[in-house]
Amino acid sequence: MANTPSDGLACGRLTIDLEALADNWQSLADRTGATECGAAIKGDGYGLGLEKMARALSRAGCRTFFTAVPQEGIRALAAAPETRVFVLAGLLPGMAEAYRETGLIPVLNCSVEIHEWAEYCASIGERLPAAIHLDTGMNRMGLNLEETRAIAAAKDVLARFDLVLVMSHLVCGDDPANPLNGLQLRRFEEMTAYFPEVPRSLANSSGIFLGPEYYFDVARPGISLYGGDAMDDGPNPMRTVVTAEARILITHGAAKGETVGYGAVETLQRDSRIAIVGVGYADGYHRLAGAGEKRIAAKAWINGHTVPLVGRVSMDLIALDVTDVPEADCKRGDWVEMFGPHILVHEVARCADTIGYELLTGFGSRYSRTYIGDPGAEA
Ligand SMILES: *Cc1c(COP(=O)(O)O)cnc(C)c1O
Repeated sequence: MANTPSDGLACGRLTIDLEALADNWQSLADRTGATECGAAIKGDGYGLGLEKMARALSRAGCRTFFTAVPQEGIRALAAAPETRVFVLAGLLPGMAEAYRETGLIPVLNCSVEIHEWAEYCASIGERLPAAIHLDTGMNRMGLNLEETRAIAAAKDVLARFDLVLVMSHLVCGDDPANPLNGLQLRRFEEMTAYFPEVPRSLANSSGIFLGPEYYFDVARPGISLYGGDAMDDGPNPMRTVVTAEARILITHGAAKGETVGYGAVETLQRDSRIAIVGVGYADGYHRLAGAGEKRIAAKAWINGHTVPLVGRVSMDLIALDVTDVPEADCKRGDWVEMFGPHILVHEVARCADTIGYELLTGFGSRYSRTYIGDPGAEA
């Protein structure tokens, strides 16, 4: 299998488990039952490689993808031609022709886009497919209630294209107790009633965990497929998909009272042993996951031992406090799990005051990448 950069020469490696990905999709599809389970593969497949994700998910049975921009959609269709691909960014001026040529489906995010799509379809005499995004509370993309009523009344506009999906997006799906969930659900029911018969989609990953009343016709999970934790509380039922490891470059001793790393933000409370690993914030390892005032540093895992980061995260280096690890378990050249089955992405994210999504999409290009559990890759 081709790895770039080559496994031995990069200081970090990502192992991406396509079988776990397929299993995660299947378990969500089982949960949603009669509701079609699609997949969000935006953000370059949540940072894990869009083509690989699309191919593995379509092999698992996924037939509907959501990408951010047309360029991602084109890559998805090339990797999995039998699927339909929605593009969340929608229609920019002059883009309609490209949608027709590629077969991508725009998610129309405002009345102007809807009118432009309708006019374009009329001009070429084809009722091309599109989705309409309804804003039930995010205040980001989509039509509000008034605009929804106006478009629903403009029967001649709607007649010019094939409305295949109406969708909205949850604001606080990760927090089941938040009353905004129920409010968005009621608004979605009210707004989609203007488009009887058109398939509906509301649930992202967390929406699936909120319960069946959020399922509608098509679910759009993302983070859960990639093993991330969709909910604020409770255990994460998904399998780990990505493991990020880095190698120990050197180990050394440092005396009580000394500091480690830039800014001298952390003073050692005892004579310590420090291991330096060769990834840093240039590899998307968030700088705020290191030590700092009033913050708990993230942890890493090495040969069975969980150890804390010490001092700040540098561009290409991270220091670990390995004082309590036997030297035999922590040697120059050993691999350290930075994320994976023992060090959960969302836990590192919490230390850095961010979310697992940001860490997953930020791995960058320096890690070597190995895809395992890929039936298509076997001879
Ligand atoms: C990102 C996204 C999803 C997937 O969300 P997850 O929380 O990753 O499951 C679904 N729908 C829309 C509109 C999105 O932007």
